[in-house]
Amino acid sequence: MNNVTKTIPEFNSKIKRVIITEDEIKAAVAKVGKEISDGYDGRPILLVSILKGAFVFMADILRAITVPCEVGFMCAKSYYSNSTVSAGAVKITMDLDQDISNYHVIIVEDIVDTGRTLRDVVNLLKARNPLSLRVLTLLDKPSRRKVEFTADISLFTIPDYFVIGYGLDCGEFYRNLPYIAEYNEEKGE
Ligand code: 5GP
Repeated sequence: MNNVTKTIPEFNSKIKRVIITEDEIKAAVAKVGKEISDGYDGRPILLVSILKGAFVFMADILRAITVPCEVGFMCAKSYYSNSTVSAGAVKITMDLDQDISNYHVIIVEDIVDTGRTLRDVVNLLKARNPLSLRVLTLLDKPSRRKVEFTADISLFTIPDYFVIGYGLDCGEFYRNLPYIAEYNEEKGE
């Protein structure tokens, strides 16, 4: 244990407004869970969550799927600067611990922003020859794209807001909000 102390933000004043309610998320998750279940062909499904932001979405989508389904987790850190596109800039800090060649893999992501993380993760997993590979994202910010990338399933398209809640953080806080909110970036409360 180290003794680093952390300043806790003025929590509520940083929640600017709710943009997607808990009920809207629940309805969309149930719909996609049913679609995935309806498409089941008898071969195993593996949901792969990219930590940490997608863990809440992962827990809910998993329970909305009514056919046999396994889970796996990866941690990917992006080292791109805003303006440059350097080679190999997404680093996998935790990888899957299983062979995926006999699975229909569905990557479960919190948000597609520049598209770089998913482009790199998709390329990495494709090379491992899964039966099929799809990307399911809770949120999509297409106006921020820096590389060409389209998710197979996207629950909500949002404008260029920095958002928090339902697993998405700011400085590791706010993941516990049950809704998606716009973060108040103004200085001073
Ligand atoms: P990329 O830019 O590679 O598409 O997205 C990388 C990661 O940036 C996402 O998985 C997510 O963790 C984070 N990110 C992008 N936009 C937002 C946002 O509006 N809010 C939060 N909390 N994280 C974001």
